Amino acid sequence: ATPTSVLVGTSLAAKRGVLIRGGDVLEALAKVDVVVVDKTGTVTQGRPAVVSVESEGMGEGELMGLAAALEANASAAHPIARAIVEHAGSLGSPGEEGDRIKVGEVEYATGKGVKGVCDGRLTAVGSPDFVREVVGCNFGDPEQRPGTAANTEVYVGVEGRGVVGRISLVDSIRPEARSVLDRLSRSGVESVYMLSGDRQPVVSVVASRVGIRPENALGGQSPFDKADFVARLRGEGRRVCMIGDGINDTLALSEADVGIAVSGGMDAASDAADIVLLGEAGGAGAFAQVEDAVAVSRTTFAKIK
Ligand code: ADP
Ligand code: MG
Repeated sequence: ATPTSVLVGTSLAAKRGVLIRGGDVLEALAKVDVVVVDKTGTVTQGRPAVVSVESEGMGEGELMGLAAALEANASAAHPIARAIVEHAGSLGSPGEEGDRIKVGEVEYATGKGVKGVCDGRLTAVGSPDFVREVVGCNFGDPEQRPGTAANTEVYVGVEGRGVVGRISLVDSIRPEARSVLDRLSRSGVESVYMLSGDRQPVVSVVASRVGIRPENALGGQSPFDKADFVARLRGEGRRVCMIGDGINDTLALSEADVGIAVSGGMDAASDAADIVLLGEAGGAGAFAQVEDAVAVSRTTFAKIK
């Protein structure tokens, strides 16, 4: 490809809302044979809603107020944080309960949850492992509890009291995800993997709905696990494209041959990516633009092979 055709390809892509950082990126994308996708916010809309709340030793409003007090003070606006704050608001919790809770410094553990001192007690909101670790409590295997099928679950724990609640959330799958992945697989991409920090049952259900093989869908992945996975594939000589939206994906995005950030996500992901998909307002349709980017790269570099 000539510098001119790369320029033409890049500006063509930009007109469609696909920002490509440099001609090397287009060339690398044309050669990709493995695609790794994040789940939350990438294959799903990233707009989860709270569907049920269980609390122990306090009312639902009080529990949501406590969770929202922590989430609202965490610097990164994670989709789960937004959903919790919104739901607490709908119960009238933040105004009344939230203002009454004294929140100390809050710390966000990427891909795990949020912790901080609320009314003098260390409190955590996040994955079961994270809450267990922070508040030092012991509770049964969450997978053994009923009604947990395909929901993302967030636990709330307080030091000295243990688990005080469980919040279930559901996020819808982007309508275009399945057909986009299908067409990529039929046009030269050999394998598609999904890596997520969420629980395995949720990851498995989402994978089956978008046509990703069960053995290629991995839950409980930390940001480092995601990056290691990409590095291992590259070590095997594969050309890897990683698609993600969150701060938890930045390491993997930089590790990949081509990192693609879907919009609506956090700025950190866009900074680490080689390609940014802007989509429409609110990031709708952004995942479909993966195909636009691949098409432009293959047209531009078709003559090379
Ligand atoms: P994904 O890899 O699918 O994008 P994340 O890594 O962002 O998912 O999150 C993984 C898990 O970490 C969530 O399912 C949740 O249990 C927990 N978690 C992450 N951020 C938060 C938060 N702000 N509040 C509560 N829990 C969180
Ligand atoms: Mg994500």
